[in-house]
Amino acid sequence: FPSRLPQVGTTIFSVMSALAQQHQAVNLGQGFPDFDCDPQLVSAVTDAMTSGHNQYPPMPGMPVLRQAIAAKIESLYGRRFDEASEITVTAGATQAILTAVLCCAGPGDEVIVLEPCYDSYVPNIELTGARVVRVPLTPGSFRPDFDQLAAALNSKTRALIINSPHNPSGTIWQPADMQRLAELLAPTNALLISDEVYEHMVFAPHRHESVARYPELAARAFIVSSFGKTFHVTGWKVGYVAAPAALTAEFRKVHQFNVFTVNTPMQVGLARYMADPAPYLNLPAFYQAKRDLFRAGLARTRFRLTPCEGTYFQCVSIADLQVPERDLSEADFCQWLTRELGVAAIPLSAFYGQGFDQKMIRFCFAKRDDTLRDALTRLSTL
Ligand code: PMP
Ligand code: GLN
Repeated sequence: FPSRLPQVGTTIFSVMSALAQQHQAVNLGQGFPDFDCDPQLVSAVTDAMTSGHNQYPPMPGMPVLRQAIAAKIESLYGRRFDEASEITVTAGATQAILTAVLCCAGPGDEVIVLEPCYDSYVPNIELTGARVVRVPLTPGSFRPDFDQLAAALNSKTRALIINSPHNPSGTIWQPADMQRLAELLAPTNALLISDEVYEHMVFAPHRHESVARYPELAARAFIVSSFGKTFHVTGWKVGYVAAPAALTAEFRKVHQFNVFTVNTPMQVGLARYMADPAPYLNLPAFYQAKRDLFRAGLARTRFRLTPCEGTYFQCVSIADLQVPERDLSEADFCQWLTRELGVAAIPLSAFYGQGFDQKMIRFCFAKRDDTLRDALTRLSTL
């Protein structure tokens, strides 16, 4: 039967994790921690299960969790979202983004992505029948290019998807970027989908420029985040969307027939755990130490490092390696690295449309220090 997504195969994350397993490689490809979450979070969830929180929660999510999310956003970014009408708990950020795209776009519409971008955005837009408009981030720096963005915006633009801290590049949008974006969108009807899943992984001296800090942007935005990244539980698939009531109402129309709702005990446990802000407030220092350890080791190789201001990803160029490795495509190099040196990585081409190769790959450093040291030893011949 005719495919709705003819260009799409299996995601690079599944492909590289399977290859890593096959070759017993250190998996620095797919972004997930190789250490466990806080045992107190597990106890909070098991307590929720043993105390009977095992049936459907309300469609938008457990009120206690929506309250905890609203309180967190207000304390960090100074904007109060109404938990009853403006916060919805989702099955991770992936579902949140798909549902947001589904409720704003359809055939005849355009949705803008800034490339490179997370691999689910483009297929999500394609599924709605809307046209994908790819605006490149500035080559080399991965900074937003507002002239190109301005040129792409038109009366058909229904939404723009942004992502800071940025996967894969690790760049962070600055206050001036947010202000420029607000000016550009002001005369348009475009909605904004702001993927902020790495909001708690921002390294000094930077701060996270949440759309929630910018009233003109927040008025047209779906702000998406995920507990998977923040609390080291990527397998739980719990995230949320904060959006003005009118947008949330549309979001929930789709959400209720998409997943209806999200697992109850995780929500109750997460709400209880969030009473203490220390776990997410301490996250930047925790990951900054890993970033520094990993970068110091990579600096002894021929990899050329790009800056990493946030996320748990480090990108490197392979252009200065010796032949024959530097002549491989990014994708072939990642396969070679996994097979021959036993370290899995992700080619940046996975975050672009077809045929783009700038000799850059992405490593994930959300790993135990001994795992990072093991990987660095394996990479030390390069
Ligand atoms: N957006 C970005 C930028 C991501 O990197 C990821 C996954 N790592 C997601 C969304 C999906 O998050 P989740 O696992 O909560 O669905
Ligand atoms: N977001 C994670 C990454 O960028 C992977 C998520 C997935 O496997 N789909 O590595």
